[in-house]
Amino acid sequence: MEYRRLVEIYDRLDATSSTLEKTDILADAFVDAGELLPEFTQLARGRLFASWENDDLGVSSSLTAQAIANATGIDSDQIESWWRETGDLGDAAANAIENRTQTTLVSDTLEIQTVYTTLRGLAEYEGSGSQKRRIDDIANLLADAQPDEARYIVRTIVGAMRLGVGEGTIRDAIATAFFDGSDEATRAVERAYEVTNDFQIVSETAREQGRDGLDALDVELFRPVKAMLAQKAEDVADALEAIEQPLLEYKYDGMRTKIHIKGDEIRVFTRRLEDVTTQFPDIVAAVHEEIDAESAIIEAEVVVYHPETGSPIPFQEFSKRIKRKNDIEELAEEYPATVHVFDLLYHDGEPLVDTPLSERVERLEGLINHDGETKTIQRAENLRPASIEQAESFYADALEAGQEGLIVKNLNAPYQPGSRVGYMLKVKPMMEPLDLVVVQAKWSEGRKSDWLGRLRLACWDAEREELREVGRMFSGLTDAELREITAKLEPLIQSVDGRTAKLRPEVVIEVEYEEIQESTTYDSGYALRFPRFGGFRDDLGPENADRFERVERLYEEQ
Ligand code: AMP
Repeated sequence: MEYRRLVEIYDRLDATSSTLEKTDILADAFVDAGELLPEFTQLARGRLFASWENDDLGVSSSLTAQAIANATGIDSDQIESWWRETGDLGDAAANAIENRTQTTLVSDTLEIQTVYTTLRGLAEYEGSGSQKRRIDDIANLLADAQPDEARYIVRTIVGAMRLGVGEGTIRDAIATAFFDGSDEATRAVERAYEVTNDFQIVSETAREQGRDGLDALDVELFRPVKAMLAQKAEDVADALEAIEQPLLEYKYDGMRTKIHIKGDEIRVFTRRLEDVTTQFPDIVAAVHEEIDAESAIIEAEVVVYHPETGSPIPFQEFSKRIKRKNDIEELAEEYPATVHVFDLLYHDGEPLVDTPLSERVERLEGLINHDGETKTIQRAENLRPASIEQAESFYADALEAGQEGLIVKNLNAPYQPGSRVGYMLKVKPMMEPLDLVVVQAKWSEGRKSDWLGRLRLACWDAEREELREVGRMFSGLTDAELREITAKLEPLIQSVDGRTAKLRPEVVIEVEYEEIQESTTYDSGYALRFPRFGGFRDDLGPENADRFERVERLYEEQ
């Protein structure tokens, strides 16, 4: 099928802001997709991989811009300038094709399959020369593309489709295409997606096997599902009030993992579904020795403790283990992991997501073949509290042990992948907000491309008499806030590099955050975790911003 057919669908999706209309357009497309249904379900959202697959193409926006230049003979500066004007590299690509100075003699009609497999193939290149091969592959595709085809190919590559098609729209479209679109059918499709994490499987099963097939889909080994997310509780009392049969567990500050086990085959996935098995030979070895199960999916928080102080080391430090490609064994010895296990989603052939937590943890505890405190696999510290006092004191213990707080879980609840449904609540101390200076900003992308966002923040070092950066605030701003920030920051622009503007440091904002971490990215040596905009401090000048010493002290105290 020609890629042009897909472009027509994209254009129609783009032309309406109504979610209902988008759903209908997609439902029709799915019915007509024939053997390309799996590709259609992915490409409809501009995705090339299922959510559980590693989806890193290894292609940056600038690399793509380079490929556009190579394919069209248009100067990179011109492409940059279009990109900067529209905030959309896809539009820049369409312009470049429109104005191209070089054309291939025989240009092929682009097929959906060709675009799909070529782009997926980009992820597979490894080692030296892989960047060049990626640029060449993209340039070859673009050489055969019409302007509107190039627009969507490039948006797909850079992951910015902007068609307003989210997971919910795909779910509704499948429910409409192959069932009656009722709430009940939609819920069935949603459940199938939660347990498979793969719309290709869901859409094909819906079409080929109907409701029975769909309902039979479940969690499978080596196909990671999303993590269940926690909602926030004010304090311990608030959490206990919300949950009738509570199980309290320490909230560990580490890396959330799912460990899949089948006989001797063990694989470790992160919360973002990345496969990090090779990086953690110590976890694999410990699972072999300390877990008795034919097959299982175990969920755990992995923490590295400082050998002398016994405190958890900052995540940033520990994440070196995730990125490292060499000396993995040495690093494992230097930073040995402790695996605090807390859930069981699959056991000896049986998916357990619909089983109550009480039974899941009981079975989980039965899999650990030791009760040694120095072993790698540890059941997460937990308590079924008899009183609020007991719960409060358990919370104090968690903080005393250097952990983040508590997770309060509902013993009667199933496992709900990817959702904040209130089956677990987190309780942790709030950090005091900081007043920080905005020193740099970036123009946003897409619909918001006229607005400055992505603020780089700094505190004031009174001793050195200079500003020191403590991180970046990426999101969480409303349109009204973005507009106001832009109006305040634009007059302060000192210089522009691409889409980044360096600012005279005059605007101070209040910033809330969850934690301060050590960081090598910012010159203060610290970074705020999950910073949120708390309001303007028009009453403060940069020299009244929070001091570096305060950031240091808060870091020590947390
Ligand atoms: P947050 O990231 O602040 O939304 O808090 C939820 C995160 O706490 C989860 O994603 C886990 O990575 C982590 N966590 C730590 N300890 C536990 C535990 N005992 N049970 C569940 N999640 C935990």
